[in-house]
Amino acid sequence: MTTEFYIADSVVTCECGAQTTVADPNMIESITCGVCGRKVHITQFNVHKAGSPPPSALLRSAEHGTLAERLASAVAFVREGKYAEAMELYDSVLKEKRDQRDAFYGLGFCHYKLQNFKESYRLLRMASEMGHAGAEKLLPKVHSQLTALW
Ligand SMILES: [Zn+2]
Repeated sequence: MTTEFYIADSVVTCECGAQTTVADPNMIESITCGVCGRKVHITQFNVHKAGSPPPSALLRSAEHGTLAERLASAVAFVREGKYAEAMELYDSVLKEKRDQRDAFYGLGFCHYKLQNFKESYRLLRMASEMGHAGAEKLLPKVHSQLTALW
């Protein structure tokens, strides 16, 4: 029996739509687009593994839904561990309507999973102040992570 190590390349998508393959997006901060010449900063939103559909394709249908549909899609993404996609949806909901406590909670939860505890705490505090029970429950956990770091 042999063990195969397969390291997939990642693909960075420029705003112009051109895609550039990079070996390891964690090693570089930005690339220069070969098509439009733009300097593309690599973020979790414009990079994906080669061979899997780009985030924009995953999100395309979801993004045109109603607020409720987008929140439901975001929750589905969270369940699949696709936090970047979920966060994009939550952001789009919050851009439209600032008092969406579910979106604040969802975003806070994603940041918690991604170990961005400071941002998570900030978002969950807002959700909690709006009366979100789940946020209230999660806050002490995030807070203990925060204090553990200091
Ligand atoms: Zn470009």
